[in-house]
Amino acid sequence: MKKLNGEELLFEYVRDLIYAPQEASLEIDKLPENLHRLGEELCLLGEGLRHQDALAHQFADGGTEEEKPSEERRTEGAWRPAADMIGLGGRAFEAFAESSDERYLFMCNMDTNVSRWSKSIVEEFGLPGEYMYDAGNIWLECIHPDDRELYLQDLNAVFSGEKQNHDVTYRAKNKQGNYIVCTCKGYLLKGDGLGPDIFAGTIYNHGVIDDVDHVTSLYNVYKFMETLRKCKAVKQPVNLLVVGISQFRRINNTYGYICGNQVLQKFGQKLRELMRNRGMVFRLNGTKFVLMTEIAGREETQSLYKEASDIARNELYLGESRVSLVLCGGALSFRKIEMEETAVLAELEYALGISKQEEQGELVYFDDTLHGSARRKLEMIDAIIRSVLYKDFSGFYLMYQPQVQIDGTVIGAEALVRWKDDVWGVVPPIEFIPILENDRCFYELGLWILQTALASTKPIVQNHPDFKISVNVSYRQLEHVDFKTDVISIVQKMDFPPQNLILELTEHCSSVQQTVLQENLDYLRERGIRIAADDFGTGHSSLALLRDLSFDSIKIDRKFIADIVVNPADQYILKSTIQCARDFGISVCVEGVEDVETLEVVDSYKPNTYQGFLFSRPIMLSQLERLFEAPGSPRLVVEA
Ligand code: C2E
Ligand code: MG
Ligand code: MG
Repeated sequence: MKKLNGEELLFEYVRDLIYAPQEASLEIDKLPENLHRLGEELCLLGEGLRHQDALAHQFADGGTEEEKPSEERRTEGAWRPAADMIGLGGRAFEAFAESSDERYLFMCNMDTNVSRWSKSIVEEFGLPGEYMYDAGNIWLECIHPDDRELYLQDLNAVFSGEKQNHDVTYRAKNKQGNYIVCTCKGYLLKGDGLGPDIFAGTIYNHGVIDDVDHVTSLYNVYKFMETLRKCKAVKQPVNLLVVGISQFRRINNTYGYICGNQVLQKFGQKLRELMRNRGMVFRLNGTKFVLMTEIAGREETQSLYKEASDIARNELYLGESRVSLVLCGGALSFRKIEMEETAVLAELEYALGISKQEEQGELVYFDDTLHGSARRKLEMIDAIIRSVLYKDFSGFYLMYQPQVQIDGTVIGAEALVRWKDDVWGVVPPIEFIPILENDRCFYELGLWILQTALASTKPIVQNHPDFKISVNVSYRQLEHVDFKTDVISIVQKMDFPPQNLILELTEHCSSVQQTVLQENLDYLRERGIRIAADDFGTGHSSLALLRDLSFDSIKIDRKFIADIVVNPADQYILKSTIQCARDFGISVCVEGVEDVETLEVVDSYKPNTYQGFLFSRPIMLSQLERLFEAPGSPRLVVEA
């Protein structure tokens, strides 16, 4: 017989209370700890019901012939208290609903399609009332349009008997208009001729927190880190399997970005099903997922990887058409986790990289692959993270690269972060940002960078009101719920003129949910801050990004500039991009101009500004200040 989980045990108990109160029993010990209190309260209620039931029988057995109800009525009488509960007025429902904090309760009489939902969900989501007719469709209205298909598919599978449990995570809009991540678990209790079918369950409110990935509704990398930390604290052994989707760009190119997200969402949901009762699943950045289980042998891990690969290859559909994905995988086992969580993640990513690049997707164990240089890199990352967490950002500093007009007039500078240490020397951002982005500490670092850049250049801005400082922002920062308000509060606290600040967003930002992105951009732009699209042309949806989001400027990546003198394709791309931006009323900065020949070609397309080694490499603050010592704007003259 299938082993029931805690919630199923509770529902079984409630059902027995309804139909056969004297037989109903619940073993609290079999419930997970978080359901103990609930279980105890239901047992108390059960006692009450049994008592009423016994009284009903006593009356029926002891009364006169006339008073004695017919067999039929007696049966009815026996489950009348319970019928109240199916009538959904029962106290059990209230007790259950009241004692679950972020967990809402619903129960639906499938014959009448009338259901009762807990008061708290009615209030939170502005539903019409606790008692609703056709609540499934009312609730559907609250669910994010992108998630509705997932919700309906899962419900249909339950109602058609394909599976017993409804278990799906989606976003639902609350009364304030914010999307909340909800996990809904439901169970269909068949009446089996004794009464109506009942569909009952709980909806767990994860809140508007940044622990859940917006595309797949799976836990995100932060939650992964937190879970690792907890495992470390209690010395819980874990087994980690990371799977990545190879060549996902192909999907985006073929079906478009929105469908790409749907594929990720479906794959995420399938992984959740795969991991039910086995462990947890998280979405890391991009197309990587981690499956966390208790410590397992290599054979078990290998078979889990195979199951995930089979799902990816055979079970994903967009409408009618099957989408076949190929995975790569890396694994790690810990009897005891001893290192920083970010280092664990870096090891997983490393193993995944080897699987993808050298092993054609075969599962790779980190222990087998560890090379000296990888180990060194991980140690360096560990040192950098410690600088953020425990040493007040020691070792971090900013350099500034001037941005100029064609005649060399400096109109601003981009702040570029570095980290330096006695052991590791100067470390460029490209070495640590992609890894650090996965750590919560990166958010703090981002704010520190912004604050430092503003504090350092404020004196220049005061004397040269046209000077603009550009600060890089990564999509990880944007995903943070406090990002926009934190930026504004720093700008205000420092009394920095917002129109002199440009935030550069990399194209990876497009992986942030579009509405979140738009909301952030609008909020910041309304308050005077300008937004630039950085590394323009390197992502998969550059032009769509221009169309859909409001940018003030774009920075064309140096990849298109490096060979432009000899490469007509790059010339064509540059020319049409500049033309297109101009049509949108957006200004263009060209990055990576290293020599005069390149400048000549680029200048023929008339971008607005330049940034490149030809004019200046990144310089220290003191050098930037020196440039601006004299009144008027400085000019960097280029030697022909
Ligand atoms: P980016 O924002 O596109 O910055 C421009 C990068 O191109 C800088 O490298 C700069 O030194 C380099 N560069 C500029 N002109 C030339 C040139 O003519 N030739 C060549 N070969 N390179 C040129 P850097 O400083 O290594 O930064 C790399 C990337 O790291 C940045 O790309 C940005 O994405 C990221 N980054 C840097 N600082 C920060 C930061 O404070 N926060 C965040 N989130 N990311 C940062
Ligand atoms: Mg930049
Ligand atoms: Mg760039």
